[in-house]
Amino acid sequence: MKLLILIGMFILGAVLGSFACCQAWRWRYKIEGKKSLGKRSVCMSCKYKLKWYDNIPVISWLMLRGKCRKCGKSIGWAEILSEVGLGTAFAMLGHVYVLPMVYYWSVLMTRPMSLVILVATVVLTLIMLVVLTILSVYDAKWGELPVILLVLAVGLGAMILGLKVWSTVLDGGDVIQLLISAGCGVVIMAGVCWAIYKVSNERLMGGGDWIMALAVALAIGDWWLALWAMFMANLLGDIIMMPSLIQKGNHVIHFGPFLMIGFVMVIWLGSALPSLFNL
Ligand SMILES: [Zn+2]
Repeated sequence: MKLLILIGMFILGAVLGSFACCQAWRWRYKIEGKKSLGKRSVCMSCKYKLKWYDNIPVISWLMLRGKCRKCGKSIGWAEILSEVGLGTAFAMLGHVYVLPMVYYWSVLMTRPMSLVILVATVVLTLIMLVVLTILSVYDAKWGELPVILLVLAVGLGAMILGLKVWSTVLDGGDVIQLLISAGCGVVIMAGVCWAIYKVSNERLMGGGDWIMALAVALAIGDWWLALWAMFMANLLGDIIMMPSLIQKGNHVIHFGPFLMIGFVMVIWLGSALPSLFNL
């Protein structure tokens, strides 16, 4: 049963990761004013209409070794990375939230308001991860971040914080303290990204990264966890990007994916969302 839920969450994440990649392409086509791609997915180089069996997340990519069935052109790494990445993220959230929710269902039913807040928080967090994935894929492919999606991410982050405020009020907790902590988290994540962006003259960090950091900081709503998320994102970003930095000299780090990893890690390790055990 446990394993089934985790596998289910992974599959849901992988499907949405595949969807996120599609959405990134569709946004691009819309912005460039090109003709829409139609309902079915197509190969970007030869316009071959993908069959259903070319469209299974992760498995199809592995079977075709990342190449188009017809023209053999590379599909790209963003697709497989976002499918596996989002699948893993969903499974991790399933582990810390969905499993306990199933386990404590009878207890939770006695606190319907808290249950609603909890479910809403988890759902909004999953949606936010999808939006962040679309942004990351878009950034990796075209080096830009669509403003509407950034606004959407910040909106989702603010809503998640709003739910946390609501649950704190219900529990009779200190709302002011929560807001101060969330504010400090915003300064730590968005402030630092913005400073790096300004000081490095856009060489180290792009202009949209601090807005993504703002969205994540709002959703985390805690200065200590925000610091950890930032630390993990930077550490991973430096380790993974260092070889290409040395090779190519100045190069903008695509910070989005690392920000997401930091975000998911603090949710998993630190339970950034309102804890079940406070209910
Ligand atoms: Zn093709």
